[in-house]
Parts: sequence; structure tokens; C-alpha cells
Amino acid sequence: MDQTDIQHVSDRSAAIAELLCALGERAVLTDPADCARYASDQSGLTGALPLAVVRPHSTGEVAEVLRLCTRHRLAVVPQGGRTGLSGGSCGADGAIVLSSERMTGIVELDPEAMTITVMAGTPLETVQNAALEVGLEYPVDIGARGTATIGGTIATNAGGIRVLQHGMTRANVLGLEAVLADGSVISRLGKTVKDNAGFDLKHLFIGSEGTLGIVTQAVLQLRRHVPGRALALLALRDHGAALSCLGAARDRFGTRITAFEGMWPDYWDFVCHATTLAQSPLDGRHGFYLMLEVESEDGSADEVEVFFADLFERDLVQDGVLAQSVAEMRALWSLREAVGEVDPDFGHHINFDIGLSPSALGHFCDATDTVLADMPDVNGVLKVGHVGDGNVHLLVGHDGSRAAEHAIEAAIYDLLRDYGGSVTAEHGIGRIKAHWIGHSRSDAELALMRGLKAQMDPLNLLNPGAVLGG
Ligand SMILES: Cc1cc2nc3c(=O)[nH]c(=O)nc-3n(C[C@H](O)[C@H](O)[C@H](O)COP(=O)(O)OP(=O)(O)OC[C@H]3O[C@@H](n4cnc5c(N)ncnc54)[C@H](O)[C@@H]3O)c2cc1C
Repeated sequence: MDQTDIQHVSDRSAAIAELLCALGERAVLTDPADCARYASDQSGLTGALPLAVVRPHSTGEVAEVLRLCTRHRLAVVPQGGRTGLSGGSCGADGAIVLSSERMTGIVELDPEAMTITVMAGTPLETVQNAALEVGLEYPVDIGARGTATIGGTIATNAGGIRVLQHGMTRANVLGLEAVLADGSVISRLGKTVKDNAGFDLKHLFIGSEGTLGIVTQAVLQLRRHVPGRALALLALRDHGAALSCLGAARDRFGTRITAFEGMWPDYWDFVCHATTLAQSPLDGRHGFYLMLEVESEDGSADEVEVFFADLFERDLVQDGVLAQSVAEMRALWSLREAVGEVDPDFGHHINFDIGLSPSALGHFCDATDTVLADMPDVNGVLKVGHVGDGNVHLLVGHDGSRAAEHAIEAAIYDLLRDYGGSVTAEHGIGRIKAHWIGHSRSDAELALMRGLKAQMDPLNLLNPGAVLGG
């Protein structure tokens, strides 16, 4: 350790002593055994052990923490429920973690304005349930709903299964409060639907993965809840037939389509035959599997049954089942949601989160299969996704070596660049994909992003290494 290192260590110790003094012992964890669980998220990336974990419970405390960190040049990793799949909330070298776990609660639910104002650390499911109690719903929905926080879903602009109907998180946030690196608070928590007074600054924070500010509160737009749902699982010839079904479903149901999810046969066979996660309700093997869910005021599946018969008649559908009860709906959904649990059975893999125009998705997946078939390190491919939104989750198994991982990533992302797609449709860039952002963004776009980052966080203290790289 040279003189500079010793100086850094003593500066950090002084900073942490000040944090303890400002927030109290309950809010600041410093024991490595306590801090260890805050080092990583669900991406599989092992993050650095945080120097400390700070758990403020108010906007004022977040501002205090950031002022103090700026004074001490101490980097901060914002963290919600750590369900992120891109390593964005993983610990960074020499950084503290700022966790929103004590910043929870519903500030106001306004049924007339159809809004809910919440603290950033509130779990998504808590918000969904509160809305349901007054006959409304918050339509952002993801498999990690029980643990993912509102702040995390905003910071990643989370997507999920309802994007087709209600858009991504961005489309459902009406107001936002965030704290900048220097501790200043940008608060716009009104419920004004129409507001063109200057730049809409909330969109800077939505999807910026904690690199521009810490989200502390949000006003979310709720929708009328239609309790009834009809769900069909359809077996098709190929992805092209799924696109025809999407067009027909739009003509028939309009904006009542709540989910349009697809599973390729590689994924289907793996989940149904190589794991105990779900069972196939269909006979035979098909080229594509589709889940179509539609809102139905009376809960009846009759109109979906008529639609299904029509598709069958037109030779678009080969087989299918219609859920007749809530239990059957759950069983069908378990086929699609099993993607979150395949890890132990599938082994080492890369979880790609590809975004493309829906019409290009099938061609891209075919080209991917061709490219990967020639790569000896590839141990299998599973494809599943939000096909109505042009978003495929491509799981590519490999031998666990960094070399194989890099070769596969380069092959997929080079191909994707030719198709004009996005290296992340909904999970975010985080730390895992920072190296590849240039495959989806031009030099001019990246220069503007870096300029904004330098303006808002000149010392690069907020989530360093995430999104824009080192
Ligand atoms: C089983 C499973 C299913 C999933 N399904 C989906 C899906 O369908 N669609 C989808 O989009 N994602 C999905 N995800 C990914 C993940 O749930 C989302 O990215 C979610 O938005 C992360 O929320 P979080 O609170 O866990 O955030 P974290 O993982 O803690 O953090 C994610 C990012 O947000 C930043 N951040 C967190 N809180 C704040 C804050 N208050 N202010 C500023 N920055 C902050 C972090 O620094 C990090 O960069 C899934 C994950 C799992 C495990």
C-alpha cells in the first residue's frame, strides 16, 4: 500500500463515519458479512463487496448521502430489489450501495385521477395490489413483481408481458422525484396529464439505470381494472403464422389483448421434457407456441374460442387449448414463466434480451440458429419472448469459459447490428452489456449521452461503469 492508497482508505473511513453520524447505525451497514448480499443482482455477475450499504428512508436522507459522497468523491451504486438481469445494481470497486429498501410505502392513492404516488423502494406487487383494492390496476407486470421495486422498474424502464397493451414503464409514469449527484432534488410529483412546459425531465431518469440520479418517488398512472381474462395456448407452424395471428387478434380484439407471448420449439421441448417446471398440455411437436390473453368483461372465453376456431379454419393454427379455470390459466402461464427458473437445468448460459421490429424477429431467430450451429462451444439454445413487442429472450448455453461467452456475444450482436436491433429490449445495459452499447447506438448518440452524464454527474459518482462503461 503506497501513500495515496492509505490516503484513500482514510478518506473512505471518514466518509463512512460521517454517513453513520448523519443517518444512524440502523441505516448504515458496514460489516462485510452484512454487506455481502448487496454485492450482486440476478444477472449472475459477481459484484464487488460494497464499502458500506446505506439505507435512507426519505428524499432528504438520500440528498444528504449524495452531498456527503460528492464531498468525499465516493461512488454510489443505487439498488432496489436486485432482481436486475444486467448487473446494473452489482457492487462496483470502491463504491457504497444506496439501497431503497427502507424507502417504501404508498404516499397517496387518488382513484379520481387514477394515480398512485409511491416511494421508490415499494415493491411492484404492493402497488399492483393497492390499485386492485380500488378497482384499478398498475399495468406494468414482470415475473419478479414480488421483489422488484418501483424505483428499479423506473430506472430500467421495465417491460414485461403487458407492453403490447399499455407500453413500457415510461408510458405509465406521470410524475417523478429524483436526487442528483450533488444532492439537489428534482421534484415533479404532479398528476398533470398534459404538461408541455419545457423538457420532460422525468424521461432522463427513466431507463438511465441509476447513472443520472436516484429516483425517490413517483406518480404512476393507473388504469381501469377489467377482472376477466381469457387465455389460449395455440400451436402453430412457425413464427410467420404467429405474426398473422397477431394481425387477426388486433382486428378482433383491438386494445383488449393483454399478452401475446411466444415460445420456440427449443424452449418448449426443454421446459416440458428436460425439467419438471411445466407439462405440455398438447400432443405432438409444433413449430411455434403462442399464448394469447384477452380482457373479457364477464370472464367468458367464448369469443376467444370463436376466434380460435376461425384461425383453425384458416389453417393458421394446428392445435391449442383454452384455459377453463384460474388453475388452468396458472398452469399455462407456468410454461412461459419457467424461463425464470431454467438456470439449474440449463447450466452456464448467456441471457440475451433482443429487441427488433416484430416482423424481423422470426428471420433474426432463424439466422441466429444458423450462426450458432457452427459454434462448437454452444451447448443449446432456448428462445422465448414477448413476440408481440418484437422482444426475444435468447438463452445460449456454453461451456462457462469467458472466451466462449465473448465469441457468442460477438456473433449475436454483430448479426443484430445488421438487423438494426437493440442489444437490450427491456433488461437494460447495466455492466454486462456496457461493452456492446455501440452495436445499438451511434457515435453521435453516445457522445450526447456522455455529455448529459458529465453535466449531471461531473465526478462520475453515480453507478460508475454501468450503461456507458468505464
Ligand atoms: C424472474 C425475473 C423476471 C423478470 N422479468 C422481467 C420482464 O419481464 N421485463 C423486464 O423488463 N425485466 C424483467 N426482469 C428484470 C428485473 O426484474 C427488472 O429489471 C426490474 O426493473 C429491476 O428492479 P429492481 O428493483 O430489482 O432493481 P435492481 O435490480 O436493484 O436495479 C436495477 C437497476 O436500477 C437501478 N436502480 C434501482 N433502484 C433505483 C433508484 N431508486 N434510483 C435510481 N436507480 C435505481 C440500479 O442501479 C440498477 O442499474 C426480471 C427479473 C427476474 C429475476
